Amino acid sequence: MLKKKQVVTGTIAHIDEMGNGIIKYREDMILVRGVLPQEEVRVEIVKRLQQGYVGNILEIIKPSEYRCKPKCSIYAKCGSCQLMHRKQSNQAQYKKEQVVELCKKQRLSIPVEDVLCAGNPYHYRNKMIIGFQKGRDKRIKAGFYEEFSHRIIPYEACLLHPKECDDIVQSIVSLIQKLAIEIYDEDRRTGLLRHVLIRYGKVTKQIMVVFVVRSNVFPARRRLVEELLKAHSNITTIVQNVNPRKTSIVLGNEERILYGKGYIEDILCGLRFKISCKSFYQINHDQCEVLYTKALDKLMLTGNEVVLDAYCGIGTIGMCVASKVKQVIGVELNKDAVKDAIQNAKLNRIRNIRFLCDDAGSFVSQLAKAQQTLDVLIMDPPRSGSSQEFLSSAARLRVPKILYISCNPNTQIRDIRTLQKLGYRVEGSMTLVDMFPFTNSIESVCMLVRK
Ligand code: SAH
Repeated sequence: MLKKKQVVTGTIAHIDEMGNGIIKYREDMILVRGVLPQEEVRVEIVKRLQQGYVGNILEIIKPSEYRCKPKCSIYAKCGSCQLMHRKQSNQAQYKKEQVVELCKKQRLSIPVEDVLCAGNPYHYRNKMIIGFQKGRDKRIKAGFYEEFSHRIIPYEACLLHPKECDDIVQSIVSLIQKLAIEIYDEDRRTGLLRHVLIRYGKVTKQIMVVFVVRSNVFPARRRLVEELLKAHSNITTIVQNVNPRKTSIVLGNEERILYGKGYIEDILCGLRFKISCKSFYQINHDQCEVLYTKALDKLMLTGNEVVLDAYCGIGTIGMCVASKVKQVIGVELNKDAVKDAIQNAKLNRIRNIRFLCDDAGSFVSQLAKAQQTLDVLIMDPPRSGSSQEFLSSAARLRVPKILYISCNPNTQIRDIRTLQKLGYRVEGSMTLVDMFPFTNSIESVCMLVRK
């Protein structure tokens, strides 16, 4: 058994699905962050977990040929960019290997394509969530949450954020200090400001700032808004979101527009989209266009299809496909996103699409009961994947084509295995799009057809 603070030297056998390097040490496993396969490292044991121990790097004795110096100064502490120590040229290869490995593990035998990489891997995030902390010196710091903890890692500029958004965050820090706005204290449940969320329209340059506060009473609100707008005339809307609950979910239910329209717009694949505070919108605009283009290519549409866009968000995929088919139905659980989707169809004068607010599983099950015909099912579920109800109902509907888009290949492969048992086969290969450069995540697309 290993003890805390014990120092161990070992070789990284492989990297697990979460991006941890694994050292096999006698009977035990040591999980190490920020390493590459085959590297020889000296680590200090810091924690014991169910699956093994956590080791922090003290020294990299033998670095990998794929190692590079991360460009970010808080890279190791922040933990959001798990791959910044890996040469960029090797990141795509790594992500592909991880997916191939997952397919093997779940016995899915399909070809996996090379990753489609971003032209510019920096400054791609169009949504940022910032936390705040007051230091012992009473100075306010903006930052990100350290992995698995509630500690804030202070930052000034993030390589993934648009620069103008980080400038806004720095101004907010000064204004919080100047106007003596209290930072929310999770443990004592005192203070006011919990988070700031910023959304950025890549094409329109519109910016939304959301102050997430604990209560409706927000004393310095007017001056905060005035001074922030004076410093940043590029902000197009400011929203107050009230979240009084003890929860790690960022946004609360109540909202109040403090300035502007309360949402931003952006242009994606030539269409205009309204995006409000709580709606989902793909994080990386340019790579999202690559993803949608690839996805729609796979469908080879004829113009006569009835399409269901399941888990449709603000209707982006469905609206991109609408001009190429007869009719589209979008289904989405988040009612704010559905409202956005309905207005987005009007905004773009798309008449052959309608949206419903429902659980995708129960909606497809109703369609199956009503013996509806559907030619194409596009599904893009959250990280947890789809439900058994959804998959079995889709099979009962006998939809000829299913296009599965996913931000988590692990659950996607699981669901594809289920669909195979329900009478589907994979057509062609799995396409990978790097939507999240420098992180472990990857977006994948797969087409299934009825046998
Ligand atoms: N296709 C969209 C959104 C994908 S993200 C796009 O490309 O932008 C996944 C979406 O699924 C989110 O909008 C989320 O609100 C929605 N969602 C999550 N669970 C759901 C469920 N059970 N039924 C329907 N929608 C759901």
